[in-house]
Order: sequence, then C-alpha cells, then structure tokens
Amino acid sequence: MTEQLSGLTLIKGHIIEAKTFGDPVITENGYLAIEDGVVKGVFSEIPAGFSDAKKIDYSGKLILQGFSDMHLHAPQYPMLGMGMDLPLMDWLKAYTFKTEARFADNNFAREVYSRLASELVKNGTTRVCIYSSTHTDATLILMEELEKAGVGGFVGKVNMDRASGECQELTEESKRETLRWLDESVKFSRIRPILTPRFTPSCTNELMGWLGKVAAERGIYVQSHLSENKREIELVHELHPDCEQYWQTYEKYGLWTDHTIMAHCVHSDAREQQAMIDHNVLCVHCPDSNINICSGFAPVRQMVERGVWVALGSDIAGGAQLPMLQVLTGCLRMSKARAIETEGKEAFLTVGEAYYLATSAGSRYFGDADGFASGNPLHAVVLDETLLPPSARELTVKERFERAVYLADDRSIAAVYGGGRKIK
Ligand SMILES: [Zn+2]
Repeated sequence: MTEQLSGLTLIKGHIIEAKTFGDPVITENGYLAIEDGVVKGVFSEIPAGFSDAKKIDYSGKLILQGFSDMHLHAPQYPMLGMGMDLPLMDWLKAYTFKTEARFADNNFAREVYSRLASELVKNGTTRVCIYSSTHTDATLILMEELEKAGVGGFVGKVNMDRASGECQELTEESKRETLRWLDESVKFSRIRPILTPRFTPSCTNELMGWLGKVAAERGIYVQSHLSENKREIELVHELHPDCEQYWQTYEKYGLWTDHTIMAHCVHSDAREQQAMIDHNVLCVHCPDSNINICSGFAPVRQMVERGVWVALGSDIAGGAQLPMLQVLTGCLRMSKARAIETEGKEAFLTVGEAYYLATSAGSRYFGDADGFASGNPLHAVVLDETLLPPSARELTVKERFERAVYLADDRSIAAVYGGGRKIK
C-alpha cells in the first residue's frame, strides 16, 4: 500500500543530494522539509513554520534521492540473466522477439508486470521510461501495475512493422493500436504514454512518418535506440542511404525533438552528439547491457563535458541488473575500462558523478530541478547500513555513502518515497 504524505513533514537523517555533476552535497543530521509530498528544502536546523510538523526520524541513516531508470524493457524481465551469447541483431531474433510475443497473454503480462513493479520499488527506482511490447492490452496492464506500486514516468507501446519476427505488426494495425492505447492511457495520473518506434530497422518509413506526426500533434515525447552496435549502424545506412548519420533517420520523420530519448549512443561521433545537444535529446547510458551484448564502451565523460544530457538506464534484459545501484556501479566500472583503454586520457567517473547521472540527470526529464530542490515531488531512498561489513574505523558520511552505493542491495533499503508517497 502506498501512503501520500499530507501536511507538513520533516524527514531527519544524513541527506545526500546530487546538485551538480560532481561531489554530492551532504547535510549531516539534516531535515528534509516536505509539504503535501512536495520538497520545501533541506535544512540543518528545523526551519521556520515546521516546528509542529510530523517528524519521520531516520537519524544516522543515509537519505538519497530516488533513482530514475531511463531505459528498460518490461517484457524482457522474464529473460533477465539469459541469452548473453549473441550480439544485438542476432540476440533480438533468437531470444527477445520470442519472449516479447508472450505478452499477447494478459494473465502472463499481469503476473510479470506486478512482480516487476514491486522489484523496482524495493530497489529504490521511483521513476522510469520503459518499453512495453507491441501489445496494447499488456501495455495498459504495465501502466496500471506501475501506478499501483507508486512508480511514476513514461511507458511506451512498442511500434514495429518490419523485420521483427514474432512481434511484427501490420502498419495499419500498429497505427490503430497506438491510437487505442493513447485514448485509454488518459486514465492514468502518474504514468504517461511515450511514443516508441523500437528503432529504425524495425519500422517502415510510413510508420515513422506517422508517429512523428502524432508526436507533434499531441505533444507526446519519443523514445528509441541509437548507435548501439556497429552492425546495426551499417544496416541503418543500407536502409536510409540518403541519411549521412543514424540520428537523421529519426530527424527526417519528426522524431528527433526536444526530450526525445535515445538509448545507448555508444558509437555516436562528435557530430551526432552535437545533434543531441542542439535538440535537447536525452542520451541514456546502459553500461551493463553494452558489455553483456558486446556493444562497446560509451564515452560518457566526454559526452557530459561536451554538454550532452546523459542519464542512466538498466536496459533489462540486455542489462542483467534491475537495481539502479548496480547500474550506477556498472557505469563506474565501464568508465574505468575507458580510462584504461585511453591510458588515462579520459578520466574515470567518480561515485558522485555517477550518482548524479542515476538521479538528478533523469529526474530533470520529469521537470525536477537538481537535488532535493524546493518544488520537486519527494523521491527518496533511505539506506540502512546495518547489514554492510563492520568498518575498521569511524567513516565519514561521504565514505559511508560511497561504500553503500557499492554494497547496498534491497535489504539495505529501509524506505522509499516516490511522487510524495511512501511506497516502501
Ligand atoms: Zn533497449
């Protein structure tokens, strides 16, 4: 059961905010002031007007921002940890489309999606941008289950009318079902629809053009994949010889706009990165997936420093780790692989920098300001370190935070707040 925070509330603990891409701002024994589920600020003393507020005491515990998983595939949850022996295009054909086809069965969808929603909450993921399958009814079930569990964000019914095996739709069917899904999605309050052409190879030009028109007419965001794998990039060039670069196949149809989400961007060059900056496109880095299906090492520091908007995603089931703490440390490991590969020319990411990518960088997508800024809906994760190894000396709060990022799992997550509600 989720519980809305109403009236004035003070949450006490060591508050750790990702205010910039850098070191976190730590307020020891601080107060997170909340009014009707919305953050009013972080204070080291009880702020004026809050002396009679309800108090929730997590003294001695770490209070982190809620995590945003900006790219994952809900119908691949049953194949988590499987099929890691093939590269992207073969992997889709051999495993993925067959698994996703199972979601024509609504009972199966309900069983999988209710479990997925509760696993997200248990692990502190409070917002998502998530792919469903091509099935409208299963997509609505996913939206329902996320909303019930208290997870916010965007869900996409996938469109694919080309080279998509068991999941391939007819073009007209794909359009008709998309409209039915959009009409039925209005009943949700914390979950909204996002248009989801799977990626250029799986959509005809007609379908891409139609989706671009719907995006513009209805003001709906778009999510897809970009420059994940070299074979995929070659295929896109064969399909669209008029486009010099992969991103232009989306731009051509009105799908490359403000807030478009592009997963991976492993092989995007400076020009493709500049196109992301120019159009405020969000690049979602999915380190575990990029390693598992041998896609490559994305140049994350280089992209961030150049000005690309980068956040993190689990990309299950290419990624085998749903917990964003695992994604965060995976991101650190991959940045070290880049540092090794470039002989230190590209410095690896710090824990604080990766924490920013896992929290504030994603929450900006939903209109939040960085950190626990005043006006943001409350999204927070409370960590209890009791189960972590005993330390040999007293640790600073920053050391405790960095250690917990590496070691904590759902057993150490004592409480989760999402959208101003207590959801765990
Ligand atoms: Zn993906």
